[in-house]
Amino acid sequence: MAENLLGPTCQSCGIPLMRADDFGREANFVIKVDYCRYCYDKGKFHEPDITFDQMVEKVAKFMMSRREMPIDNAKAQAKALLSQLKRWQGQR
Ligand SMILES: [Zn+2]
Repeated sequence: MAENLLGPTCQSCGIPLMRADDFGREANFVIKVDYCRYCYDKGKFHEPDITFDQMVEKVAKFMMSRREMPIDNAKAQAKALLSQLKRWQGQR
């Protein structure tokens, strides 16, 4: 388990889940506690076929848009973060 992550985080992209609105939902509107609504909504993943590397790329770009950092740095951080998440276990 990822003990160093504070509070619930999306187990797909690693963003912190702070408000009820941030969580994904099942088709019957029950909250899916493991995932954010950008990754998972109405009972399914938005991008069911996305690979670990593609998600690293995506999260790295998101990190760069929020903080100025070199792409290699952002990718290394994204990789470290995502490799702890449930969705990517067994995919590395
Ligand atoms: Zn997510």
